[in-house]
Amino acid sequence: MRQILLAIFVFLGMQNVAFSQGINVNADREEFALNNSIFVLYHEIAHLLIAKLDIPILGREENAADNFATLMLMRADTEQTDNVLIDSAMGWFSYDENDESESYSDDDLYGEHSLDIQRAFQIVCLMVGGDPETFSGIADDVGLDRDRQDSCEDNFNQMSKSWDIVLAPYINDEPKKLDVNIIYDRGYGLVSAGKLLQKNRFFENAVDNILRKYTLPIQPTMRGKECHEANAYYDSWTGEILFCYELVDEFRALYKEE
Ligand SMILES: [Zn+2]
Repeated sequence: MRQILLAIFVFLGMQNVAFSQGINVNADREEFALNNSIFVLYHEIAHLLIAKLDIPILGREENAADNFATLMLMRADTEQTDNVLIDSAMGWFSYDENDESESYSDDDLYGEHSLDIQRAFQIVCLMVGGDPETFSGIADDVGLDRDRQDSCEDNFNQMSKSWDIVLAPYINDEPKKLDVNIIYDRGYGLVSAGKLLQKNRFFENAVDNILRKYTLPIQPTMRGKECHEANAYYDSWTGEILFCYELVDEFRALYKEE
């Protein structure tokens, strides 16, 4: 991976950790919001593939979906996708920091998802496991010790191989046209979050980067809209991925200045 520029990121109450090397943390709120949105979209695409291709999942599906999103971004291996990974990990750390309760509640512990901070560390673990040269500085800065960083490499390789095995039967060897319904719902006018997504070809890029690689038994729909909650999900009933514009606004609010 290319070398990323040096920058400092004040790490959200966690001892003001400053990244010491190799990182260009986005100073821009819009880019942070877009990058976190991209990670969530990739996560939802994992749910779609799991459902429509009948992919076996050993363990929590939510963890598998995060791992898939991380893997796809690692493999894309561009400066932008590196920044998506960094911002997404920071996003989960921020959610954890913003949680004012002193301890975790039962519903945090029995919920479908891992804890926010575990999701953050897992992304960083796979980043450093898959590309220690680029990401060991970040792993050091967030406190992943060197022994764990070493075992992250095994975790990354195992996870990467597992996804390759289960997706192999569905690979498109020939570039193939895939029709996807992409809708940026305008409602009473396209809100600024919707504009941000549309301008950056949010759904279109995800289709090109992921969905076109596989043979799907359906014509997927991806819809951005206002839904009065900050959420995104794969709807197994309609086969549609729905991304609420309010989630972009939540990521904008989550961003903290250096
Ligand atoms: Zn999920």
